[in-house]
Amino acid sequence: MIALEQALTRLLDSAASTPILDHEQVTLADAKGRVLAEDIIASLDLPPWPNSAMDGYALRVADWNGEPLSVSQRIFAGQAPQPLQPGTCARIFTGAPVPAGADCVEMQENAELLDDGRVRFTQALSAQQNIRPQGQETRKGETVLQAGTRLSPVELGLAASLGVAQLRVVRRPRVAVLSTGDELVEPGLPLGPGQIYNSNRVLLCSWLQALECEVVDAGILVDDLQQTRAALARLSRVDLIVSTGGVSVGEADFLGQVLREEGELALWKLAIKPGKPLTFGHYQGTPVIGLPGNPASTLVTFALLARPYLLRRQGVAAVAPLQFQVPTGFAWSKAGKRREYLRGRLENGRAVPYANQSSGVLRSAAWAHGLIEVREDRTLAEGELVNFIPLSEVLG
Ligand code: AMP
Ligand code: MG
Repeated sequence: MIALEQALTRLLDSAASTPILDHEQVTLADAKGRVLAEDIIASLDLPPWPNSAMDGYALRVADWNGEPLSVSQRIFAGQAPQPLQPGTCARIFTGAPVPAGADCVEMQENAELLDDGRVRFTQALSAQQNIRPQGQETRKGETVLQAGTRLSPVELGLAASLGVAQLRVVRRPRVAVLSTGDELVEPGLPLGPGQIYNSNRVLLCSWLQALECEVVDAGILVDDLQQTRAALARLSRVDLIVSTGGVSVGEADFLGQVLREEGELALWKLAIKPGKPLTFGHYQGTPVIGLPGNPASTLVTFALLARPYLLRRQGVAAVAPLQFQVPTGFAWSKAGKRREYLRGRLENGRAVPYANQSSGVLRSAAWAHGLIEVREDRTLAEGELVNFIPLSEVLG
């Protein structure tokens, strides 16, 4: 058995040495989930000019001696103000430019509008209060987003705030999905004796779409050497082939045989549960990741190995999913040889596993909020801390 880290390192090294080099220019609206291929450098200060954080009055603190001030202009967001007339204040609204000569904004709640149109300030004033200074967020010339960043709605909003309309991103990875197994039938068709419905196909195809990959859905592959050869031969020009099933010990290993003939492969027994058997190889130069067929195993191995691999192929540096420590709501009395990734929920801040952790039970993951990591060789008392990887983090 090999440690998860060891397998991951091998995969990531391979991915880093075969980066996807094609780039394309896309609009912000088309950039979500894509990986930035260039640094984004601010071409302006943000904010571009000092502006008001409040609805209120702009004035110069030194002009105020406790007496009411007259209002010399009204400045709405989107307007260009006149310089402040000395000895007056300006009505100003949130987001409007602070006029030259003013050094403070007082909120309207602390101002009293008198019958004669002047304004009395009721609190002490200090310079710069309620002013968002020019460049407080970003200075022109700063690198705001780095190449290799995966673009979420937040990064897109940030790019937009700098006036960037288009981004250079890495081409979408083309990923072929193969479901192996004589027993598999597509949903919608009648189930014969000994058959089960193919859950991994849609699981992986839709997941890859959420990861902004271009999916080549290669359907079901029966357990047959000739057909395996033919199926792989049809899948040229993809960046990765992901197959499920056919990697369990003792089974006729058709995928492995074809890879041995026409490429190379490593067969790993990962020290994790679920998800022990994993194939990584190349077919005529195209990378192939063979995931175990039990759906919960497919889910865990795709999340922990194939997803980081695909991100690294696109140049993403931080490929590890966010995880955090939570106290367990259960005890773990028998130390295991393999690290377990229990499908579980957070209930009142505690991690609670689904009752049935069989690798064939996909309902465990549908019920779960994430993966509870129980390290190998250890027991847990209730309340001890474990790592928790939210499924929402890895599913997109
Ligand atoms: P295998 O690795 O081919 O021996 O498959 C392990 C287990 O996963 C078996 O019980 C298979 O029936 C099941 N399995 C394999 N592929 C799929 C699939 N695409 N959908 C649902 N179950 C599968
Ligand atoms: Mg099989």
